[in-house]
Amino acid sequence: MNAAAIVRWSLAFVLAAILASCAPSGSATKGEGPASDPVMGDWQGHRVTSEGAVMPVAVQAIALGDRNYRFVVKTSYDVRGSLLSVDGKLDGDRLLVAQASGWSVKLDNGTIAGRTSENEAQTFELKRVVRLSPNLGARPPEGAIVLFDGTSLSGWERRDETQRAAPAGWKMMDGVMEVAPGTGNIVTKQKFTDFRLHLEFRTPFMPEARDQARGNSGVYLQGRYEVQVLDSYGLTGEDNECGGIYKVGAPRVNMCAPPGQWQSYDVLFRAPRFGADGKKANDALVTVFHNGVVIHGDLAVPGPTGGAVDNDVQLPGGILLQDHGNLVQYRNIWLVELRP
Ligand code: MG
Repeated sequence: MNAAAIVRWSLAFVLAAILASCAPSGSATKGEGPASDPVMGDWQGHRVTSEGAVMPVAVQAIALGDRNYRFVVKTSYDVRGSLLSVDGKLDGDRLLVAQASGWSVKLDNGTIAGRTSENEAQTFELKRVVRLSPNLGARPPEGAIVLFDGTSLSGWERRDETQRAAPAGWKMMDGVMEVAPGTGNIVTKQKFTDFRLHLEFRTPFMPEARDQARGNSGVYLQGRYEVQVLDSYGLTGEDNECGGIYKVGAPRVNMCAPPGQWQSYDVLFRAPRFGADGKKANDALVTVFHNGVVIHGDLAVPGPTGGAVDNDVQLPGGILLQDHGNLVQYRNIWLVELRP
C-alpha cells in the first residue's frame, strides 16, 4: 500500500470510529434487552471483603436450562478473564451454589444479595443492568447502500445457485428478518470490494443448547470471511465464538450480549490486493466493532474461512448471512463502499 492509500485508509478508519461513537441510540428502548428470565444477564454491584474493603463486581449470569446458571464474576465488564465462575440453581428465591457450601444467596425484587465464606468472608449485592450497544439504530449515511431496511428481502437471494428461482426463504417479521432453518444461506445480489458495513442481530434464547449449537449464524464478508454470530455470552471469547473471524482470529474481548438482546457489528473490510504478476501482495484486512468496541483492528485474514462461497478472492463478493439452523434475527443492514 502506498503512503496516500495508507492515509486514505486511516482516514476512513478514523471517520468510521467517530461515526460509530456518535451514532444515535434512539431505538434503544423496550424490547432491545435480553430475553425474559429471572436471572440470566448482566448484574452489577459491589462486595465487601472481610477487611471491610468495598470492591466493584460485574457478573454475567449464563442460563444453562432448568433454572441452572453459571455466574461469571469480574471486576468490570468488557475485559478478558474473570475472578471466578460458579454454578447455581434457582430454587424459589434462593440461588443454590453448586460447588460449595459456604454460600448463601437470595434473589429478591431485582437484587441478588448474599454472603460467602469462601476464600475471605464477604457480602455482596448486585442489581440487574442492561448494557445496550451505542450503535443500535445507526442510520445509513449519505451514499450508503441499504441492504435491509426491514421492509423487503428483494436485495437478497439464495446462496445455492440451483435454488435461485425461488426467493430468499427467510422469514420477515416486525421489520426484522429471521433465519428459516433449512432454507439456506442468503447473500446480497450486489457484490462489493472495500466497504464499511453496519448490521444488527440477535441470538435466540436456547438455554439447553451448548457451544456451536447455541444461536449460530454468521456474517460472511464478500461471502468468504465469516464474522461468527453465536450466543457465546459470558464465555472467554475464542475464534469460533461470537465476534471471532472463524478459526482465524479471536476477538480482543468477548463483547457478546445476552441472548434475545439486539447487538451491532460495524465492520471495515479491505479486500486482498494483488501484484501485476497476479500474486497476493496483501491479505484481506478486517476491523470489527462489536457493540461499539473494537474487537479486531486491521486483522489480516489469509484466506476464506470454512463455508465460504468460493476461493475467488480477487473478485468482489456479496454479504452472506448463514442459516445454521437457529432462529437468529437481523435488522438495519447498510454498507458504504470505500474506494481503494
Ligand atoms: Mg456461524
